[in-house]
Amino acid sequence: MPKPRILIVDDSGYFRRVTSLILKKHGFDVETAEDGQDGCKKVFEFQPDVILMDLIMPVMNGMSAVKFLKSNGQTKHIPIVVLTGESIRDEKYKVLTAGANDLLSKDADEMELILRVKNLVQLKELEDELLRQRDKFSNILNDLAEAVIILDHNEKVIIANAAARNLFNIPTELMGDIGVRDLVQSCGEADEVVEQLRSDNVAKLMVDLDTPYGPRTFQVRFSSVFMSDEGEFGKALIFWDVTQEKEIEKMKADFHSMIAHDLRSPITVITGYTDLLLNNKAGELSELQMEFLQAIEDRTRALRKLVDESLNVSQFDNSKVSLDLNAVDLNHIIKDVANSLGLIATNKKIDVSFDLDPTLPAVKADEGKLYKVFSNLYDNALKYTRDEGAIRLSSRRCGDNVVVEIEDDGIGIDEEEMQYVFDRYKRMATAKKRKIKGTGLGLAIVKQIVTAHGGRVWAESAAGKGSTFFVELGNLIFTKEKDGDTEKEEDALV
Ligand code: ADP
Repeated sequence: MPKPRILIVDDSGYFRRVTSLILKKHGFDVETAEDGQDGCKKVFEFQPDVILMDLIMPVMNGMSAVKFLKSNGQTKHIPIVVLTGESIRDEKYKVLTAGANDLLSKDADEMELILRVKNLVQLKELEDELLRQRDKFSNILNDLAEAVIILDHNEKVIIANAAARNLFNIPTELMGDIGVRDLVQSCGEADEVVEQLRSDNVAKLMVDLDTPYGPRTFQVRFSSVFMSDEGEFGKALIFWDVTQEKEIEKMKADFHSMIAHDLRSPITVITGYTDLLLNNKAGELSELQMEFLQAIEDRTRALRKLVDESLNVSQFDNSKVSLDLNAVDLNHIIKDVANSLGLIATNKKIDVSFDLDPTLPAVKADEGKLYKVFSNLYDNALKYTRDEGAIRLSSRRCGDNVVVEIEDDGIGIDEEEMQYVFDRYKRMATAKKRKIKGTGLGLAIVKQIVTAHGGRVWAESAAGKGSTFFVELGNLIFTKEKDGDTEKEEDALV
């Protein structure tokens, strides 16, 4: 353990000698200086833990030396004990105001001198430890490639690591003046982004920002942080630059849609010729030939479905889903979907029941796309329900929204797989085990369409017991009957 270092700054050679001897006897490492200027110079060379400073000295007096040392970032944390004589009583308060940490009479005895110095050495050790911890924390933060921002409860930036300061051009001295909106102002939907950052229901979002390195896309992850004993909360924001990943994703989607597109025409030709052959347009076929051709046709149709669905997904990926908005009666769509797939339900002897709210308001939505949503969900319910099972289709009002439920008592989904249900190309173990055919794309399309409507889709399921898929949509349109006239009142518009 190194000895604590004490610097004595005093123009009296006698005082320096005597005080040095006492301090050395008590295990301190001592250096001396004979005036304020010499003292300041030695502070940088000797790096003392405590400074004993006389007030009246030639060249540079104690007061000026205290002011200089306390205004310098490198030396301000070193405790200074000002040595006072009777004659300068009034000066005491001035030096304390200038930043000195303690006062000690030059007449103080050995015991008092040592106790005061030891206390200040301890104080300095504690402060050094705090500074070390702070430096460690800020080094770790600054080494992170991701921009990290901490906002206080007024949404002002209080901590920004090096990456964040560069990214948002935040000068250290202006840190507390920068608000959350300033950070995202370059993105097109700044107000919307700020609203989402305030929300407790969202934990990450994507933003496109203009940065000193050009336009970039970030995934912003954020969470509340506890800031003080008073229970004050701030927010921590981490900005991950995902520009490259997004470009790769786009290239993959483009490639994907190109392949899918190019596969369509040969498939159409194969189906066309197979149909001709099956209809005996090229002569009478034997039963075995018919059987083989039927197998070819079945598989070609499945291939066509896969290609169509994957094209659908990549189309939605590349551009925002465009919606043709009109007043849509969800009950009507549900009945339509059930009718069109009625034969499958009949063949499987599935008991289909309806619980549709007749007073359900219309929603402002794209009818064709919602038809796709409910036919995908109903088709799944039929596909993943055993013969003689049951399906219930219901609709109800839920606050400012409407919710449609498609419930079945089919094979269900394992709990640990529920998180992947809406991921593309994911097929669950329960379906694969039973060799039920599918593409793993239907639910991804459902999610894209519902999300584009500002709605929500989710599922509850238990393996072996059944599944319920929920679709929640807003943007209701209320219809008031008035004197025989029908007046539409649009509550919220997309
Ligand atoms: P697929 O063409 O495979 O049905 P989807 O995207 O529609 O593709 O569904 C993804 C997977 O979710 C299915 O493969 C199946 O494992 C599971 N799944 C979907 N709906 C149901 C349901 N009603 N009951 C049980 N599993 C379901």
